[in-house]
Amino acid sequence: MKKADLISALKNNGIVPGSKLVVHSSYKSIDFEGSPEEVCKSFMEAISEEGLLVMPAHSPIVKGTPFNPGRTPSAVGAITEAFRRLPRVSRSLHPSHSVAAWGRGAKELTAGHQLVDAEGEGSPFFKFSQTDGKILMLGCTLRACTMGHVAEWVAKVPHLGVPFSAAFTPTAEYIDDDGKVKTYVYQTYPGCSKMFDKAIPWLKEAGFLKEISLNKETSLLVDAAGFVKIVYDKLKEDSAALLTDSEEHFAKCSHCREARRLAVKKP
Ligand SMILES: [Zn+2]
Repeated sequence: MKKADLISALKNNGIVPGSKLVVHSSYKSIDFEGSPEEVCKSFMEAISEEGLLVMPAHSPIVKGTPFNPGRTPSAVGAITEAFRRLPRVSRSLHPSHSVAAWGRGAKELTAGHQLVDAEGEGSPFFKFSQTDGKILMLGCTLRACTMGHVAEWVAKVPHLGVPFSAAFTPTAEYIDDDGKVKTYVYQTYPGCSKMFDKAIPWLKEAGFLKEISLNKETSLLVDAAGFVKIVYDKLKEDSAALLTDSEEHFAKCSHCREARRLAVKKP
């Protein structure tokens, strides 16, 4: 698939100039004839500067090396790494869960992320959930969908305070706009997203998710506000609603074990 094919496939799926779109992606899945940067440019052309293009640019915390928005690579795929490097792309300053955005409202979306919870109120994904935007899971599933953590945060599930792994420290450093190294303190942690695909049938039934294909891959196109609404309702019924049913996963995931121990159900 070439750039023009991608743009027209996006258009056929309602992604047009002015659209607001979060993209989670697998570069390999779409068999694209061009670099990851060209994929980003295709998206930019498809939605235009009147639209808003958002991607995660998450990165692991490296002790002794503060997060540097201009230098720290994105660890969530080749397309996201190419995107955060492009001119006029804003990147938020959260030390582990930074977000990159381009287009109308990109600066406002990414601003202040270092002052709030990674996926809490005021974070880029939280702000996006209050728009009429969509989430495209390009060749990947909801296991990669950060919006699940927003829903968990809004529902105040009891496992928000459980670090993803034992290696996760409650503080991390980042380089602020003024060039100074600052310390971020975690109040909550985005947890394990291994079983977020459990939300697929819920969202499908509610009309907020459809399976699409831009090339040969399977992608999901999800309504962002609808996602949070539906998943919030499920988590309010049972805070473990998005956890695995597999003992095999519990055996190897301390986060999920702790989340299960803390789980609350509506009586
Ligand atoms: Zn887990």
